[in-house]
Amino acid sequence: MALTLYDTMARKKRVFEPADPARVTFYACGPTVYNFAHIGNARAFVVFDLLYRMLRRCYGADHVVYARNITDIDDKIIKAARETGEPITAITEKYTKLFHDDMEALGALSPVMEPTATGHIAKMIAMIEALIGKGAAYEGDGHVLFAVDKYTDYGKLSGAQRDEMIAGARVEVAPYKKDPADFILWKPSSDDEPGWASPWGRGRPGWHLECSVMIESKLGRTIDIHGGGQDLRFPHHENEIAQSACAHDGAPLARYWVHNGFLRMGTDKMSKSLGNVVLAHDLLADWSGEAIRWALLSAHYRQPLEWTDDLLRQSKRQLDRFYRLLEEIEFSASEEAAPDSVVAALEDDLNTPEAFAALHALRDSAGQTEGEARTEAIRKMASAGRLMGFFSARPQDWFKGAAGDGPSVEEIDALLIERAEARAAKDFARSDQIRDDLAAQGIIIEDGSEGATWRRS
Ligand code: AMP
Ligand code: ZN
Repeated sequence: MALTLYDTMARKKRVFEPADPARVTFYACGPTVYNFAHIGNARAFVVFDLLYRMLRRCYGADHVVYARNITDIDDKIIKAARETGEPITAITEKYTKLFHDDMEALGALSPVMEPTATGHIAKMIAMIEALIGKGAAYEGDGHVLFAVDKYTDYGKLSGAQRDEMIAGARVEVAPYKKDPADFILWKPSSDDEPGWASPWGRGRPGWHLECSVMIESKLGRTIDIHGGGQDLRFPHHENEIAQSACAHDGAPLARYWVHNGFLRMGTDKMSKSLGNVVLAHDLLADWSGEAIRWALLSAHYRQPLEWTDDLLRQSKRQLDRFYRLLEEIEFSASEEAAPDSVVAALEDDLNTPEAFAALHALRDSAGQTEGEARTEAIRKMASAGRLMGFFSARPQDWFKGAAGDGPSVEEIDALLIERAEARAAKDFARSDQIRDDLAAQGIIIEDGSEGATWRRS
């Protein structure tokens, strides 16, 4: 078996072959830290966490270098500082910490490296100087711009036509630009904006440049895998590719490009600009991180994922069913080899719907056996779930933590069955009574297409 990944550049699935299996390099564009991550952002990082776990499984934990940056200089951060009156570093430190807390709660392993943009300013200036030296960048009015016509493969990743790209991205037309498609490598800072001394005056870097420089500095000229959300293909990743290739005598930036699809609310992409965001932080107040992670991985990562409350409820309910079996075996965090069915699904371009189907099949077969074989089957199921970042809680904590002083899962399930029977017999007085009694104990019943589910309020 071998890991295959859909490579956006090649527009097909390719068997993954790292340049050096002893040092597999993987970079994901990280968050801009000026407010809370929403669950669309979380989807990207949970997907890349799964990829990181698969790479560790294939090549060994010590042989995978996963870097996810922190964008801690950006106009949106400057704006947030102006609006709140807080210093920029207070904002970036606060939201970096909150981002880490959310990621940990969602079961995402810490990356090996987490470079910050502000930690790489000198190297950014050096890359700009190199690009100017090669004739791929020019200065205008305190700005330095990349000349896109100097990179003939510009647009190859996203495949969009130049004019389409310019119109779609509402690229700014400015007097200091020779071509509206040229993009900023460096721009001047006013006195009340953060800035660094440079050959072009006091200023700050452009966002795209930050990633090119952090990749070069931490991972090397050409990395194995570069990941990000689908929206980053253009202009962000096209620009990263162009800068890096021109600075490095044509060496490609990445050998595989992996992009996740959007998490949507209805038909719209979840985004800060549309204002339709659900924050991971808020959801984590009511739901376990594993339930959110389950919901985020329920669709294939390249497909859109429509976010609904029902999806989250179903995910929690599924996990309850697994944890009920896990209660039967001794808790052990030690890694056993995960069963082939789940591994094969994940190796096939992280096919999580298939992996979940295989996981359900493992649960069903475990539930149907007895004795030693049952214990063994539950262990296998556990190792498969752990490979995907689940089942990290002790089962008693999973149930107890959520249950508090309320009725047990078994009691609630039994009452739900009784309620369904009462409803079928049109005994609505009894079914309403069950609902009300449970509600009084903080148990909320929700009727959905697949029967009733419940959660603790
Ligand atoms: P940002 O902090 O906006 O740069 O986004 C961080 C990551 O989340 C990037 O990889 C984005 O492409 C990704 N992202 C943003 N919105 C969504 C969404 N609605 N669904 C999936 N990924 C998203
Ligand atoms: Zn980036």
